[in-house]
Amino acid sequence: MSQRIRTSLLSCSRRFISGGKSQSAQISETVSASAANPIPFASTDAADKDSAPVNSKFVFDDRYPVRNDWAREEIRSVYNKPLLELVYHGATAHRIYFDPRQVQRCTLLSIKTGGCPEDCKYCSQSSKYDTGVKAERLMEFEAVLKKANEAKEAGSTRFCMGAAWRGVSQVGPRQFGRVLNMVSEIRGMGMEVCATLGLLNKEQAVALKEAGLTAYNHNLDTSKEYYANVITSRAYGDRLKTLENVREAGISVCCGGIIGLGEKHEDRVSLLHTLSTMPEHPESVPVNALVANEGTPLEKAKPVGVWDLCRMIATARVVMPRSMVRLSAGRVSLSQAEQALCFMAGANSIFTGDKLLTTPNPEFDSDDSMMQTLGLVGKPPFFYEEAYEKRQA
Ligand code: SF4
Repeated sequence: MSQRIRTSLLSCSRRFISGGKSQSAQISETVSASAANPIPFASTDAADKDSAPVNSKFVFDDRYPVRNDWAREEIRSVYNKPLLELVYHGATAHRIYFDPRQVQRCTLLSIKTGGCPEDCKYCSQSSKYDTGVKAERLMEFEAVLKKANEAKEAGSTRFCMGAAWRGVSQVGPRQFGRVLNMVSEIRGMGMEVCATLGLLNKEQAVALKEAGLTAYNHNLDTSKEYYANVITSRAYGDRLKTLENVREAGISVCCGGIIGLGEKHEDRVSLLHTLSTMPEHPESVPVNALVANEGTPLEKAKPVGVWDLCRMIATARVVMPRSMVRLSAGRVSLSQAEQALCFMAGANSIFTGDKLLTTPNPEFDSDDSMMQTLGLVGKPPFFYEEAYEKRQA
């Protein structure tokens, strides 16, 4: 399983000094350069307009087209814009493709916790680290359905199930069969259903699709250049292969990353470049801020600042304007005002419920109150597979 979980961070500006220049100096140079050479936004493709997964009346502006040919320099120049200008761009792109009042509430449940053989350095569920998280068995079918019902009643329209497995091949067909039954039953409740079960081969992806899975989450976590500093037990290419299998099976792709792993700004740019130059953008892009977990190699990591989070969200919104950008792990440490800034920057989804797998998260009631204060409303479910099938026809 990759993760939208347990993340933490350091956004100390000194950490990003390189080549004798501070980040602000680098930003200022890049901004000057980009002012002289504006971002060459291409014209909007009509087919993209037709397949937009949201209210089409928001799709008629051509300043923020869906592009898959981003040059890394272009993304860097977006990322490095002065923060409020960047937030403005994120907010504008957001309004073209989505109703900005709608924020989707998703619920993530750990259906199989702990004991994972992978070595992701941020994760409390890895068996490599002494984090106090005990290995549990796969949850019972009825218990999962109960949680899905509770989530639906509390306003969630997407239910995500996470299993701390290396991948589906690690477990026998019986356990996978139980997960397929959960998927079918919850999809039958009218919710979007997402799963994050680790590596998937083609056959497993097709089985999930046939069971009714809406989306599969498999995060890249960070840039391909920095990746080996965080995970050694599976390769970046393995992750890309799983994403390819998911896409080929006709399942919507949920793929993002975690900031605060000790990476540089350039790694964040690189991650966004990888995501935004996929043949099709992930329909869902979780942006996580590391929640440092005790016992993991990253337990002492400094918290990510809201400004870094905003910068990442707004850049993701500009370069993948039609994707759901999800404000994910790390939200519990943000004030409502800080979360409002993230929504303004282009985030249009949150995870609700008191836990995000194993880490704390704001509770349903406090989110209700925040959404009321900010004039936000829940987003109804959208079944991407129907749009995908239309596009394939
Ligand atoms: S250690 Fe396992 S459960 Fe944790 S993020 Fe890595 S793959 Fe997922």
